Amino acid sequence: MISIYEAQQVILQHVAPLPREEIDLLQGLGRIIAEDVAAPWDVPTADNSAMDGYAFSHESLQSNRLKVTGFLPAGMKRSTPVLAGEAIKIMTGAPIPSGCDTVVPIEEVVDLGDEIRLQGDVKPGAHVRRRGDTIREGEVVIAAGTTLHASQSGLLASLGRTRVATYGRPRVAVIATGDELVEAGSVPEGAAVVNSNSHSIAMQILEAGAEPVVLGIARDTREATREMLLRGLEADVVITSGGVSVGDCDYVKEVVEELSGELLFWKVNIKPGKPTAFGMLRGKPFFGLPGNPVATMIAFEQFVRPALLKMMGHVSLFRPVVRATVTEGFRNDGERPHLVLCRLAAQEGRHVASISRAQGSSNLLTMARANGVIEVAPGGCLVPETEIEVTLLTGRV
Ligand code: AMP
Ligand code: MG
Repeated sequence: MISIYEAQQVILQHVAPLPREEIDLLQGLGRIIAEDVAAPWDVPTADNSAMDGYAFSHESLQSNRLKVTGFLPAGMKRSTPVLAGEAIKIMTGAPIPSGCDTVVPIEEVVDLGDEIRLQGDVKPGAHVRRRGDTIREGEVVIAAGTTLHASQSGLLASLGRTRVATYGRPRVAVIATGDELVEAGSVPEGAAVVNSNSHSIAMQILEAGAEPVVLGIARDTREATREMLLRGLEADVVITSGGVSVGDCDYVKEVVEELSGELLFWKVNIKPGKPTAFGMLRGKPFFGLPGNPVATMIAFEQFVRPALLKMMGHVSLFRPVVRATVTEGFRNDGERPHLVLCRLAAQEGRHVASISRAQGSSNLLTMARANGVIEVAPGGCLVPETEIEVTLLTGRV
């Protein structure tokens, strides 16, 4: 059986970044910028004052008294030069007038009304931000591959940009399968099961930065499964949950192959999540996730998320790993690597991971309380109060 790592490699070999598209900055949180952005001008655009103070020519200083000849707020420009022996009151950000080379902060002078008196040494050129000090015209300030967050948005805006090229955002079809399923919002009668997978998968898609297209439930027949998969192919990626094992009602594998899809694997050496399939269906990546709600989500994390991130142009595809002290013991008596759910908390400068006893592949409650996962090899165990590695399931602890 293929390992988790091998399965991830197979998937990543078959997906590629989507074509670029230009978007408004405000629509682009988390998107990957797909162009090198060069500065169209110097920043600052002119020499300007770094302080509220007085600008003067240090070079032609003869005494420590200077006549104040005007006031220059930010946004204004002085047209006449400031002469030797004169100073101008200047506010932070205002352009340094011609004739000046130095600014002395208000706090460092004695105000004598029409004049100021300098105290102590004032360094020539002090408190002047030079044109191009921060950024030179033509300099690449954002390299393709950078994630668009608040600071990149601000930087782009400061350089006059309101739009930027980014990699596309995949539309991901979400299909539930099963005769037993009823949609959320109704009370499950008898042996009915609420379709929770469509909700958790859709949210995982959103959280990854992609766009879910929830198609509902395909009943357990060849025809219904085929019809739903064909609808799914209108999206960029197709995900099903359930129906991919070896049960009498499991049609997904068969129908994918019938539709000339090539399944590259349909079982992975992982617990939970063994019945996970991946293949290319008419040129689109297809993921057949397990039906059990926790297995579905774990398989999404391990196999779908990195693929979606790659399609969106991300270079870093995996969740961060932190070291933590585990508080409970755990033993993997099974034959597959076990991904054990844990609750990670920051405690006195370290991370502490607690493990619930209820690690069942359908226990959504444990999943909902977890924010990390620990891989325990077959035959391996976790010893209480020892340090282990935890892969985060969220962006932060
Ligand atoms: P299957 O692989 O189709 O046999 O499903 C395995 C288990 O997962 C069964 O107990 C199903 O009822 C359950 N299951 C399948 N699909 C869903 C779903 N969309 N939401 C919640 N549970 C599901
Ligand atoms: Mg089923």
